[in-house]
Amino acid sequence: MSDERTLVLVKPDGVQRGLVGEVISRIERKGLRLAALELKNVERSVAEQHYAEHAERPFFGELIEFITSGPVAALVVEGPRAIAAFRQIAGGTDPVEKAVPGSLRGDLALETGSNIVHGSDSPESAEREIKLWFG
Ligand code: ADP
Ligand code: MG
Repeated sequence: MSDERTLVLVKPDGVQRGLVGEVISRIERKGLRLAALELKNVERSVAEQHYAEHAERPFFGELIEFITSGPVAALVVEGPRAIAAFRQIAGGTDPVEKAVPGSLRGDLALETGSNIVHGSDSPESAEREIKLWFG
């Protein structure tokens, strides 16, 4: 299978808590590779474009406030089935009800609004998000 690329963010809660190394370690131990890595302050317009699919959801305002509340680590991660592989490492969106133990969210988060990481959900999203974050 040919390699894929996915956009990973360590969200402000993950950076604040010193979990960037933990996230990278799990990515590398899985066998995925880092193609880009940068600590970024998040412009509101970038945050709104990143989460455009959720613009009508009731939590959108909170989500944008949160993601712009401090620096994020943005990564391009590559390898075979990188998109699904990282979402497995991340765990489900709700860290208690959905993320299994052993996943980043299952092990390290309690709230859906602050669940440490983002990973692209499809090849189309990955392409769009990598362009948005890395130009
Ligand atoms: P994922 O990050 O697993 O792809 P979604 O794309 O559905 O999840 O949602 C994007 C982000 O919005 C989630 O990671 C989470 O931080 C936040 N979010 C999703 N659903 C809720 C909710 N019901 N309440 C608060 N925040 C939410
Ligand atoms: Mg998503």
